Amino acid sequence: MESKFCVLNDPEDLQTLITNTENRLQFERSKTLFEEIRASINNNDEEDRSFWRPVLPWGGVYTIRAGRKAISCTPLYVKIYLKNTCTIDGFLMILYVILRDNQGFPRELGVFLGKQFVEHFLTLMDSCDYTTVKMLWIWYRMSKKQYRSAVCQAALEIDLFGNEHDNFTENLENLMSTMQESLCTSWSCRTRFQELLKRTVIINPPHELPPRDPIQSAVDEFFCPKILLCTELGCDGLREFSHRVFCHGAPPFVILNMQQWKAEELSYVPYHLALSQHRYSLEGATLFNKEEHHYSAAFQIDGYWMHYDGLRSDNLILLHKPPELLLLSSLVYTRASEK
Ligand SMILES: [Zn+2]
Repeated sequence: MESKFCVLNDPEDLQTLITNTENRLQFERSKTLFEEIRASINNNDEEDRSFWRPVLPWGGVYTIRAGRKAISCTPLYVKIYLKNTCTIDGFLMILYVILRDNQGFPRELGVFLGKQFVEHFLTLMDSCDYTTVKMLWIWYRMSKKQYRSAVCQAALEIDLFGNEHDNFTENLENLMSTMQESLCTSWSCRTRFQELLKRTVIINPPHELPPRDPIQSAVDEFFCPKILLCTELGCDGLREFSHRVFCHGAPPFVILNMQQWKAEELSYVPYHLALSQHRYSLEGATLFNKEEHHYSAAFQIDGYWMHYDGLRSDNLILLHKPPELLLLSSLVYTRASEK
């Protein structure tokens, strides 16, 4: 079967398509998507609180242009249908806003995801080429195990149904990698010294809710040194854990996985967070609707909060107040500039 997918598997073809799109769109647009959204929220009348047209709609159809290679391989399909893309859409939107709103962040992210990838991502989002930007993510960041694909008649269907942390957060390479060392007090412990590496930041609600700011407490718990009973088989020693540190310095943004938290534990979400001796500010959040198994996202530009939901017809709307984070999937914080 694999040989029939040669058109899809050749990164050169996507490269060509992206370049063609870039050339075509550069003549048509004077403002980037980010500039348009920013202008829209700053000039908005009281009555009209929605962005003027859909942004990054759910799903998408990507048409493959038959080229030299396609002819020689006789492709089985000419279109790719994307389904259940909400597991990446909200994060792609937040990522775009973060990168366009913070000079220097694209360069920093490029170290982890590749300079070219970040440049393509921004160009495609700037020019509202929504389906191609999703293809770029699926192709270059996701592994084939992370989605289902099936050929149906002359089309390929890619279904991203699942968890947004698997489909997005896990694919950011070592951006958020942290390391913690530990040493067991028992000399007979089989693995006295251990290094614990984590690539994502999953915080757990405190066992007993602290009087204020449970999220900061949970983040502190994640990074702080601690002493626990050693879990090595047959060892009765105590294991001392060092401070947890970012392996590659404080990242430009951090995604906190909040899936373990219940709504009642989230009555207070802090705007500022101290994270491993750096200051971070709340930039966005992703939200989960359990009944519909559907993700949406909230983010702020110039202090205005917006809610994005790819399935809505008015899919980007301005909120009068920060969103009520009832079904929180993640919180996204950006690093505050050092002053
Ligand atoms: Zn031990």
